Amino acid sequence: MKVTVFGIGYVGLVQAAVLASVGHDVMCVDIDANKIENLKKGIIPIYEPGLTPLVEETYQSGMLKFTTNPEEGVSHGQIQFIAVGTPPDEDGSADLKYVLAVAETIASYMDSPKVIIDKSTVPVGTADKVSAKVASVLASRKVDIDYDVVSNPEFLKEGAAVGDCMKPDRIVVGTENENSRKVMRELYAPFNRNHDRMIFMDVRSAELTKYAANCMLATKISFMNEMSNLAELLGADIEAVRHGIGSDSRIGYQFIYPGCGYGGSCFPKDVQALIRTANGIDYQPSILEAVEKVNYAQKQKLFENLNDYFDGDLAGKTVAVWGLSFKPKTDDMREASSIELMKALWKAGAKVQAYDPEAMEECQRIFGAQQGLDLVGTKESALKGADALVVCTEWSQFRAPDFDLIEAMLNHKVIVDGRNLYDPQLLKDRGFAYYGIGRGDSV
Ligand code: NAD
Repeated sequence: MKVTVFGIGYVGLVQAAVLASVGHDVMCVDIDANKIENLKKGIIPIYEPGLTPLVEETYQSGMLKFTTNPEEGVSHGQIQFIAVGTPPDEDGSADLKYVLAVAETIASYMDSPKVIIDKSTVPVGTADKVSAKVASVLASRKVDIDYDVVSNPEFLKEGAAVGDCMKPDRIVVGTENENSRKVMRELYAPFNRNHDRMIFMDVRSAELTKYAANCMLATKISFMNEMSNLAELLGADIEAVRHGIGSDSRIGYQFIYPGCGYGGSCFPKDVQALIRTANGIDYQPSILEAVEKVNYAQKQKLFENLNDYFDGDLAGKTVAVWGLSFKPKTDDMREASSIELMKALWKAGAKVQAYDPEAMEECQRIFGAQQGLDLVGTKESALKGADALVVCTEWSQFRAPDFDLIEAMLNHKVIVDGRNLYDPQLLKDRGFAYYGIGRGDSV
């Protein structure tokens, strides 16, 4: 099938390459000329396991093409994906300007029937807005061409995006149009062989499904973080509690890790956007408001622990930070806990020596000019002359470090472990001050 994807970010590029890999003829369109030029040269703008060979292979075979020319993009595909960003507006609601700009582009150039797919995460009612935009542009062109707007939200996880698209848990499709159903079935047939993963529903339910999924996951995290705060105050160990509750099959072990708060490009903005949607219809979403509040407080914990250890005197101290990305296996730092920590440290007059296996370039791009930031090449060099170590991201290479070396290199024997990677007793026995998340009286 001939497919066009507008917006070649984490979602668009992965989706496009995966569709091309099974034989669809895919044209990628982005307004970022630099990104498109680099992609043509084989330079992939993001780190995502397995993506580089997939893009190389499909580009070489001719099934994946790149352009900045919107007219070329629109005329290529019977199917037009909208996969552009939907960042938070000033009030936290999803900003639809990029989505509607693509809708306008599609309507301006289309000269044959199109199935237009909202792949971006968009509030309930957006498909109607996209449809209205297309209708008004077609009317102004005085042409009557068939089109349908389908909601097909994306559930991939950064760090496992290629695998998630190749073998999705489910493919949610919101449409009431019989032809669109057929087109979507044919498009996703290669990913739907083992069992039927396609879930058809009405458009508004599909739009809400995406927010409900992300808000449920964010709720699980904030719930566990609240429990970890209680565990700390009550002298219990949240890791024991986690094992205890996860063994109940109604609860399960998935996604109940306490930590230093959720980040990334999705959970924070999607929780906020659903709160704004609810406010807009005079409904107070008490659970979602609490989820956001708990997460904000949790992100302050790393700094609070350091501040506690150094009795509020962090000026002139150097802190080694392990992990900058919001989670492992990605270079994405959007809303990462590391950002909150580093900003607080700089404000308190401390310096940061940071290392991340993949997010160094991204950190350089965001904070390159920042005083008090030294980005170093290894996790060991981050320790050199540092007064404390903070673990922000649970990259596997941080899981079993050489504690003798840490002890020898740090000026003070203190570790703040935002991901509960280490055994509090072991560190205590070695004479470290250890701050985990909800580990009872571990300090
Ligand atoms: P991104 O910021 O990585 O990429 C968006 C791309 O769109 C950019 O390359 C930008 O240049 C391009 N763009 C903007 N306007 C354009 C236009 N008019 N024409 C063509 N290209 C244009 O965004 P992302 O992380 O891929 O997210 C895209 C959407 O998918 C968002 O709504 C997000 O919430 C949703 N989503 C993201 C994830 C994730 O893990 N990142 C997962 C599921 C859903």
